[in-house]
Amino acid sequence: MIGGRLRLGESLARHSSWRVGGPAENFYLPATADDLAGFLRDFARGPITWLGLGSNVLLRDGGLRGTVICLAHGLEQMELAADGEIIAEAGVSAVKLAHFAAKNGLAGAEFLAGIPGTLGGCLAMNAGAHGGETWPLLEWVELLHPNGERERRAASAFQVGYRSVRGQGDACFVRAGLRLPTGEPEALRAQLRAWQNQRAATQPLSWPSCGSVFRNPSGDHAARLIEAAGLKGRRVGDAEVSTQHANFILNRGQARSREIEALVMEVQETVRKQFNVVLQPEMRVLGEHHDD
Ligand SMILES: Cc1cc2nc3c(=O)[nH]c(=O)nc-3n(C[C@H](O)[C@H](O)[C@H](O)COP(=O)(O)OP(=O)(O)OC[C@H]3O[C@@H](n4cnc5c(N)ncnc54)[C@H](O)[C@@H]3O)c2cc1C
Repeated sequence: MIGGRLRLGESLARHSSWRVGGPAENFYLPATADDLAGFLRDFARGPITWLGLGSNVLLRDGGLRGTVICLAHGLEQMELAADGEIIAEAGVSAVKLAHFAAKNGLAGAEFLAGIPGTLGGCLAMNAGAHGGETWPLLEWVELLHPNGERERRAASAFQVGYRSVRGQGDACFVRAGLRLPTGEPEALRAQLRAWQNQRAATQPLSWPSCGSVFRNPSGDHAARLIEAAGLKGRRVGDAEVSTQHANFILNRGQARSREIEALVMEVQETVRKQFNVVLQPEMRVLGEHHDD
C-alpha cells in the first residue's frame, strides 16, 4: 500500500498563489519521500508535473493531464546535523527554513523569509532576493527520478543561472544539504524581519499574485518600464496590473488564467512597442487552454 493522498480532478486553483487553474487529472500529495518513490514506481500515469506551493506558476483554466505531484504539505522534515549542516526536505517552506537557520546562528538564508514557496520550488527556480540566491547555500541535493530511484549529487554538478537551474532532467528535488557560515542569531533575525517589513511596505501582498511577473531586463527594472508605459491599473477581467508595484499582476476577484495570460501579453506588447524591450516572464505557464 502507498501512503499519501491521491485525488482525481482536484482544482488547481486551490494550489496556486494566483488562485487560478482548472482540474488536475490526477493529483498526488505524498506524505514522505518513500511514499513518493513507491507511487512513481507502481502507480504514476501519464506526464508528471511537480508542484510546490504554486507561487511561481500560471496554471491554465483547462487544467493538467497526467499526474500533478505536490510536494508541499508533506516532505517537511528538517534537521541540523551534528556537523552543522542543515538537511531539509523539498516540502519545507522557504520561510521556515530561513527562521530555522537564523535561530541556529547560520547566516545567508535570511532572504528566503520573503519567498512564499517551498525549498523544492526555490531549488527549481534558483529563487533569490536582496542579492542572495538559493544555490550558493547548497552542498548537495537529492533527486528522485520518475522511475522511483533516488540520487544524491553535489550542488556543483548543476548549471545554475538567474532564476534557472539545469541538470535535474525530469527528476524532482526531494532533499538538500545546506552549509552556511555562522552568524549571531539575534542579528540574523533582525535582518530577516527588516526585509519582511520592506516587502510588506512595497509589495501588494493582500491580493493573490505570483510575485514579479517579468524578469528584470539587464540594466533596467521591469516595473519601471511597465509603469512608464502607463500600464499601472490596466485590467483584463479581474486581472490587474498592480497600482503599487507594476511588475505584479493581481487577481482582484474571480480572474481566470486566460485573463492573466492576456494581460501578460498586453504588457509585453505595449512595452515592446514603446521601449523596444521584450520582457520575459519569470513564472512558468503550465497546462491546457480552456476550450471556450
Ligand atoms: C508575493 C510573492 C513574492 C515573491 N518573491 C520572490 C522573490 O523575491 N524571489 C524569487 O525568486 N521568487 C519570488 N516569488 C516567486 C516564488 O515564490 C518562488 O519562485 C518560489 O521559489 C516558488 O516555490 P514554489 O514551491 O511555490 O514552486 P511552484 O510555483 O509550485 O513551482 C515552480 C516551478 O518549480 C517546479 N518545482 C516545484 N517543486 C519542485 C521540486 N521539488 N522538484 C523539481 N521541480 C519543482 C515546478 O514544476 C515549477 O516549474 C514570489 C512569489 C510571490 C507570490
